[in-house]
Amino acid sequence: MSDQAFYSSLQQKLATLKIDGLFKPERVLASRQGAEVVAQDGRTLINMCANNYLGLSGDVETQNAAAAALEKYGYGLSSVRFICGTQTVHKELEQALSNFLGTEDTILYAAAFDANGGVFEPLFDENDAIISDALNHASIIDGVRLCKAARYRYANNDMADLEKQLIAALDAGKRHKIIVTDGVFSMDGTIAQLDKIVALAEKYGALTMIDESHASGFMGATGRGTHEHCGVIGKIDIITGTLGKALGGAMGGFTSGKKEVIETLRQKSRPYLFSNTLAPMIAGASLAVLERISKSTELRDRLHENTAYFRQEIERIGFTIKPGTHPVVPVMLFEAPVAQKFAARMFELGVLLSGFFYPVVPMGQARVRVQLSAAHTREQLDTVLKAFEQAGKELGIIKN
Ligand SMILES: *Cc1c(COP(=O)(O)O)cnc(C)c1O
Repeated sequence: MSDQAFYSSLQQKLATLKIDGLFKPERVLASRQGAEVVAQDGRTLINMCANNYLGLSGDVETQNAAAAALEKYGYGLSSVRFICGTQTVHKELEQALSNFLGTEDTILYAAAFDANGGVFEPLFDENDAIISDALNHASIIDGVRLCKAARYRYANNDMADLEKQLIAALDAGKRHKIIVTDGVFSMDGTIAQLDKIVALAEKYGALTMIDESHASGFMGATGRGTHEHCGVIGKIDIITGTLGKALGGAMGGFTSGKKEVIETLRQKSRPYLFSNTLAPMIAGASLAVLERISKSTELRDRLHENTAYFRQEIERIGFTIKPGTHPVVPVMLFEAPVAQKFAARMFELGVLLSGFFYPVVPMGQARVRVQLSAAHTREQLDTVLKAFEQAGKELGIIKN
């Protein structure tokens, strides 16, 4: 406690963040997660900013499955997996995820952040090349940093640039090359062109990896993910994803792929070897979620109906959105102060959503991001659309 300069420098940096409008306050909810949430002040808000795509986060069936696993397996393991932290429920979940994703084997982590952080270093070294989309998630960027492989970056979703980088890696004589992309990019709702990526991988003898955090459970005809959506099930080498978004929403992550890849990660991946096992109630609840969405596409279908309805109506009112089909709907407001004012006004009108502006998105691309859920009713969406219309007119974004 003798270096006072350290603390004053932190105070200064925090003050600067606040002045620049980059400080992130935390919204405190007094209720469970859902289509509606109760704020700390007791107000009920319609929630349009959770990754709760299938509406399972605050769902009673999910909760009951967690309770059943809690009852059977207890609260926790106080161990890593390889000492005494593996229960039957963990093996069952790994098998169920492999079946769901169409892969050979799966390894669980405490978070997708850990899955991505621990996937590259055990598998690749300085002889290899990682070819990564420029907008990949922070956890992929950090994972790549922990690995000695050469890094090549291609412009977001730009297949011509990807091919250029593949050629550069080939010319550099790299042994193994792996193309890495988010299956869906969460700022824009852009869906990676996996059919084209797989074709390029085949042309240049590269491996492929996708992060399915914004896709597992609802993209593709039966919700298996972006690889199903793009018709390339069985053609992706490594799939990472989260249990903390559509697939239940508590926490947990996974890496899935060929047996020898997963076996290597079990032996060498540091966030797996040196971190506690996933709580059994989360494993049990995730297993129940997979069974539920494998039996029926009802939730997935409702999500896509809600998405199509919202996308159509918000454009009809006169707002500009990024075109697409994903339940992430960026409503473009372009200027940062407008996005800030708009989100604040929507909050007053009872709608929870988040504004994004530079440096999270490019300059002049400020927006509010709407995320649809299967849990939203048509009535709730209509209320949200009315609030958009009112705030839009008040702020002169749309015409009267
Ligand atoms: C949310 C997210 C993660 C992190 O998931 P956690 O399980 O919460 O750590 C990783 N990758 C992508 C693309 C994400 O959107």
